Amino acid sequence: MTEHAVVIAGAGPTGLMLAGELALGGVDVAIVERRASQELAGSRAGGLQSRTIEVLDQRGIADRFLSEGQIAQVGAFASVKLDISDFPTRHPYGLGLWQNHIERILAGWVDELRVPIHRGREVTGFAQDHTGVDVQLSNGESLRAEYLVGCDGGRSVIRKTAGIEFPGWDPTMSSLIAEVEMTEQPELGVHRTAAGMYAFGKLEYEIRDGQIIYKDGGSIRVMVPEPHVGTTREPTLGDLSAALIAVCGTDYGLRSATSISRFTDMTRQAASYRDRRVLLAGDAAHVHSPVGGQGLNTGVQDAVNLGWKLAQVVGRTSPESLLDTYHAERHPITARVLRTTMAQVALLRTDERTRALGDIVTELLGMDEPRRTFAARMSGLDIHYDLGAGHPLLGRRMPDLDLVTANGPLRVFTLLHHARPVLLELGESGDFDIAPWADRVQSIDAEYHGTWELPALGVVPAPTAVLIRPDGYVAWVGERSHSGLVDALTRWFGAADAA
Ligand SMILES: Cc1cc2nc3c(=O)[nH]c(=O)nc-3n(C[C@H](O)[C@H](O)[C@H](O)COP(=O)(O)OP(=O)(O)OC[C@H]3O[C@@H](n4cnc5c(N)ncnc54)[C@H](O)[C@@H]3O)c2cc1C
Repeated sequence: MTEHAVVIAGAGPTGLMLAGELALGGVDVAIVERRASQELAGSRAGGLQSRTIEVLDQRGIADRFLSEGQIAQVGAFASVKLDISDFPTRHPYGLGLWQNHIERILAGWVDELRVPIHRGREVTGFAQDHTGVDVQLSNGESLRAEYLVGCDGGRSVIRKTAGIEFPGWDPTMSSLIAEVEMTEQPELGVHRTAAGMYAFGKLEYEIRDGQIIYKDGGSIRVMVPEPHVGTTREPTLGDLSAALIAVCGTDYGLRSATSISRFTDMTRQAASYRDRRVLLAGDAAHVHSPVGGQGLNTGVQDAVNLGWKLAQVVGRTSPESLLDTYHAERHPITARVLRTTMAQVALLRTDERTRALGDIVTELLGMDEPRRTFAARMSGLDIHYDLGAGHPLLGRRMPDLDLVTANGPLRVFTLLHHARPVLLELGESGDFDIAPWADRVQSIDAEYHGTWELPALGVVPAPTAVLIRPDGYVAWVGERSHSGLVDALTRWFGAADAA
């Protein structure tokens, strides 16, 4: 039986990101993917939030995405645009880029990191014991792993086989989304009518001065509500035509479709992200409406939170209990994403009373404080893991500061390219002997002369030292002393004698 330290089920955005993170952590990891190639039916996610771009920048790969997509103020809450151009980040924008491109670029990175992907095979089940997991594949083979991570999407076999509950809310709406050929040209853009919200667009577009300019020709992207919620069979061209006629009065001479799929606002979250040696991430752990564009981004953030922790546990520098912090940190963050998304679904209903409520929300979000709060939330820049009381940086993302070191200028994110923790010493806080952790934690002396400003929070007191986790979140803040640092190093990166 082939053995790996970690097997990931699913090479979607979450599985690919996790594989990259584990490979950087020196883990023998393999992916099992049902699809024969990375090709994706339908365009699905339309882009990346600011924090996701930052996370990719932390690994030195953001430019690969930026060079292919459209940088723009794409953030919105219930269709109310949220401008983040004044936010203190190197990426004060979102990126328009279809999921098939995001996956292709991630797969290229994972390939460079030499992660094997067993394509055209499904994980059909698994059995775990106290030393590992036997992973059964659809071709009759098995893989043995110390850990199995289910990144296998909303209908996750891993979640179901593990018997992990998936509580939440049944759908209240259902829409078809398709890429089609039509003989007539519908009016492109989003339309809100009493019959519901529908939209026409193109796969090829440019964003100029905040406006989407669709390219001439090419397939049309359609989104149209279905009359009934709860249909489970695969949608057909006939269903799409009927839905268009019901809402628009015509199907615009619908001729053919390269993809037709359905999405709903079903909202569910795994009760636990871990069952002993089995973990869940991405859509396998949470599903919700695509409104607000949070799903792919949330999955990538799950992967970046889990990757280094699992790498340390597999590498025996940290105890297994470190894995419990994955659920403890990510479950509440995503629970809030789910609530925020449900609120948007409700606000996008097209009856007059909801529209009146929507007008009030639009007015409120036009004010600076609510705009900053919601823009930080929707862009992922306000993620705050509860690491206890203390300096405002604790548990928040480390800003990508321009540092000055004895060797010249240095960006903080450059220090994170290899997914290794960093102790950044910025002042005179006395000597600290990092030697017991020197094999795991980089220690950098630097100067920084600017202000410390966090999105939505504003300026915070300058620390004299910070301990940064590989996912870019601050694990400890020094204010003229090293008090608490040994505890933080031990808690996050293992005991002094663990290596
Ligand atoms: C219409 C639409 C628009 C969206 N827009 C956005 C957006 O703008 N922004 C955003 O952030 N998100 C958006 N999303 C959500 C986003 O597409 C998902 O959240 C994202 O794809 C989740 O990634 P994942 O890797 O967790 O799961 P998936 O992308 O579902 O990947 C799961 C992978 O596992 C494979 N797999 C499944 N079962 C098995 C098995 N048993 N064995 C092996 N492999 C298996 C699948 O083939 C697939 O490759 C949208 C979704 C839809 C439907």
